[in-house]
Amino acid sequence: MRDYTYELLELIRLTSTDLPGQVEERLKAALANEAPGSAAQAALETILKNVAMTRKNSTPICQDTGTPIFFIHSAASIDRNELTRQIRTAVTLATKQTYLRPNAVDAITGLNTGNNLGDEFFPTIHFHVSETDELTVDLILKGGGCENVGAQYSLPNDELKANRDLEGVRRAALDAVYQAQGEGCSPGFLGIAIGGDRGTSYLASKEVFLRDPDDKNPDVGLDKLENQITTEANELGIGPMGFGGKSTVLGTKITSTHRLPASFFVTISYMCWAYRRHKMVIKGDKIVYE
Ligand code: SF4
Repeated sequence: MRDYTYELLELIRLTSTDLPGQVEERLKAALANEAPGSAAQAALETILKNVAMTRKNSTPICQDTGTPIFFIHSAASIDRNELTRQIRTAVTLATKQTYLRPNAVDAITGLNTGNNLGDEFFPTIHFHVSETDELTVDLILKGGGCENVGAQYSLPNDELKANRDLEGVRRAALDAVYQAQGEGCSPGFLGIAIGGDRGTSYLASKEVFLRDPDDKNPDVGLDKLENQITTEANELGIGPMGFGGKSTVLGTKITSTHRLPASFFVTISYMCWAYRRHKMVIKGDKIVYE
C-alpha cells in the first residue's frame, strides 16, 4: 500500500493544535451564558484565548496531548500491519516535532518510552471493515484527566435508585458528572454506552465521540435523553473547572450495544473541553481532512 506516514503526521498535528469549530462554538455559547465577572466566565475566556492561539501557532491545545486513539474504516483488503506501522511512525515523528507530549509510560515502573510508542495498545488502533473504496482514519486525543473521571455502572444500582431502564441511565450519567465535580476539565462532553460487556461498553462510549457534535440521535428516545442529561448536568451548578456556573456539559451522545440478559452496564466516558478529534479521508489520490 501507499505510504501515508506524512499525511498521518498532518492528521496528528491538526488534531493536537486545532480544536474543531463546532466545539469552539459551544464554548463561546457557554461563555455568553455565564455571569459577567464570574470565575466561570474567566475560565472560558482563558480557554477560548488559548484555542485561538494554539491554532495560530500550531502548538498543542493542552500540555496533556492525551492518548492517541485511531479508528480506521476501510475495505477488508487493507494491509493492517503496514498501516499500523505507518501510524506508529507518524506518532513518533509527531512526538519529535512536539505535537504530542511523550505520554507512554510503563504501567509498572512508570518509565517513559519517550516516543509515545508502548505495547500494541499504545497508540490505540481500532480497525473496522466496511464495503467501501475509502480509507477513513479518525483520531481522538483523549486527555488523561477526563479519562480518570469516566465511570461504569452495573444496573440496578440501589444507592442511585437506578433500574435497568432509561431513567436508570439518566441517574447513572448525572451521578458520574456529580462525582467528577468539574475534574477532568469541564465543561466537556459525555459519551454514554448502554449495554455490552465491560470492555465493549467502554469502547462504544468512546467511539460515540466520533459523531458530529451537532447531529441528532436517530433514536427519538435516546435523542431526548441526550438533551435531558446535558440540561440537567448543567443545572448541577458545577461549572467550568468546578468553579461554579451554568456550563458543565456541552453535549451528550448515547449509543447502545447488545448485552447479556444478566448484565446492564452504563458506561460514561468524559471528554474535556479539549475535545480533539479530526478525520482524514482517502479516496484514490484525494486526501481530505475534516
Ligand atoms: S483533561 Fe483535557 S484539558 Fe484537562 S489537562 Fe487533560 S487533556 Fe488537558
